[in-house]
Amino acid sequence: MTDLPPPSPAVTGPVEAAYDRYAQAAGQWLDRYAQQGGRVYCGAGCFACCNMPIRVSLAEALITASALDDDLRARVGAHARRVIENARTAPDDDTYVERHRTEVGYCPILNPVTGGCSRYAARPTRCRDTFSALPALYCAADTWEQLSPAERRAYHREVARTPGTDGELHYIAPLEYLSEPVWEEAAAAMSEQWGLQIWGDFWVLTTLAASGDFMAQVKLRRAKGPGKRLRPWALPTL
Ligand code: SF4
Ligand code: SF4
Repeated sequence: MTDLPPPSPAVTGPVEAAYDRYAQAAGQWLDRYAQQGGRVYCGAGCFACCNMPIRVSLAEALITASALDDDLRARVGAHARRVIENARTAPDDDTYVERHRTEVGYCPILNPVTGGCSRYAARPTRCRDTFSALPALYCAADTWEQLSPAERRAYHREVARTPGTDGELHYIAPLEYLSEPVWEEAAAAMSEQWGLQIWGDFWVLTTLAASGDFMAQVKLRRAKGPGKRLRPWALPTL
């Protein structure tokens, strides 16, 4: 058992409300997109994107952490350790991402039987605003490396002529822009309540968010005042 922190509704509440507003805005955008002939390939059981690195705020991580049971919390913690090891040893950003996808592997919150997210209501922003305008094959980790030069040119032509993309990648750009208010709400709530903002890897922060000791340190920050450093922290053993 972990020393779970008490809820932090002043921080998580504004983020959850922003999630709801995003869902409404994204739904309306998707309806218009479909009416204009656009197609979104995301659907239940589609999970090739669930091995991408994910950046979150601690505010969001608190929401996910509160939805985990002991077993899943332990598996998220183990995943977080692999993330940290990759971050410490990867020589550059590209290697970090490539190793995250192929070696750190799939998010432990993924249900391997159904291919669905086992904590769908508590998933972070990046999992909510990633939509693909091409088949999931193009989201998979090793697809690009396996394409021939001609296939890569065909991919770029297809992306360029597909409405909703940024012309470079097959993800639907406006649905990412629409989620910016969620980030802003998280930033404002953390600053107001804690006097600091904490951003980082999804699994690392979700593990830390489940530690009452860590969260007590975060909340102490405002009492310590600006300029005072929090003590260095290690991932709690779950
Ligand atoms: S982004 Fe790609 S892999 Fe993820 S759900 Fe959509 S189509 Fe599937
Ligand atoms: S939280 Fe859910 S949607 Fe996001 S990466 Fe994990 S399993 Fe996939």
